[in-house]
Amino acid sequence: MAGSRKRIPQFNFATHVFDQFKRRKVDKTDEIPQQEANVLESTDSSQDQNSKKQEIHIVENESTNSSQEQNSKSKNEPAPQIDHSEVIKHMNESFSNKKENLHSFYTCKTCTKLSYNETQRLKTKDDRFQHNWITDESLTYCQKTGYNWLIYIEGEGMFCLICRKHDSTNSINKAKKFNAEPGVRFKRKALQDHSNGQQHKSSVLAELIKRSSPFLAELDKRESSKQSVYYNAFLAIYWLAKEEIANCKAPSLLQVLQQLGLDDIKYFQHRSAGSFRSIMLMLGENIKSQVAKKCEEAKYFGLLCDEVCDLANKEQLLTFVNYVDKDTHKVCTDFLSATDLLEKSDSADAHTIWMALSRQLEDCNLKKSSLSSFASDGASP
Ligand SMILES: [Zn+2]
Ligand SMILES: [Zn+2]
Repeated sequence: MAGSRKRIPQFNFATHVFDQFKRRKVDKTDEIPQQEANVLESTDSSQDQNSKKQEIHIVENESTNSSQEQNSKSKNEPAPQIDHSEVIKHMNESFSNKKENLHSFYTCKTCTKLSYNETQRLKTKDDRFQHNWITDESLTYCQKTGYNWLIYIEGEGMFCLICRKHDSTNSINKAKKFNAEPGVRFKRKALQDHSNGQQHKSSVLAELIKRSSPFLAELDKRESSKQSVYYNAFLAIYWLAKEEIANCKAPSLLQVLQQLGLDDIKYFQHRSAGSFRSIMLMLGENIKSQVAKKCEEAKYFGLLCDEVCDLANKEQLLTFVNYVDKDTHKVCTDFLSATDLLEKSDSADAHTIWMALSRQLEDCNLKKSSLSSFASDGASP
């Protein structure tokens, strides 16, 4: 990898590497409800926890009140401030493939009605969705959380921002209405029922607990910034490799980045020597596969190889490839592979070199029949 100086390859490795970490993310999200449950259970000692207890108490008491009482409460207590850009970001992630057809308080700034196609689709139905329900505060505004919770997706139906966010389920019939499945009973009554229902109230409670707990807020922040944190950390480690700086400088580089304002990098926890080594190898493998793919696309390639004795006294066979890049139509020379020649042999003779070269080509899925040139100095027979 250190030898591939000519061009900085595209950071396609991010996709590959992130996929692996995403899998871990999925595992970890399972832990969060448990941690929330722990917070709920351990409400004995600190003041913070007491205030949480009070808040839960308030929510439980209010859960018996009607929506009219909820509105009268709004006159006394200031509503929580909502960061609209955060809500839009969350909705775009949550409804990633449907965001074109989404109507909500936060996205419908100038939009006041459903599209022509959607209106035609609903024409045959007895009940029809009314766009103004989205902005109707008496119907779809939650005073406790400050959210205008109604979302409408064309072609599907109504969703609740809070229930979707907390992935809540109806405890009686185990349905995920307004969360995974859309609500399709287009009546004001259906929205009032949802707003006063157990599922929605448990989502509101979960939201309030999350806001009152710095611990859970931190967890949330860590989860939401994970993608960019990994990208930045991997890019920093890639830069180290590219500049031929020792791996052991990686923790210190990450620390400097944090001090320079990349605060979220503190969430990157994989800082052991073993982790950095794995990351370097992963990056190397990914770049190697990109180079091999380009050679394959070029149809013909040339090889340049030589032996080098490294610091650890290992006899390495270094191989470079020469090919015409299909996209840029330029001749490129890239580092392909390094093999320890004496790993399986006593002498770095012609036969050992031939076997090592064959293995390198096989590893990269490159055909010997496409090898059109070869450059090297002599080797002992
Ligand atoms: Zn709209
Ligand atoms: Zn809800």
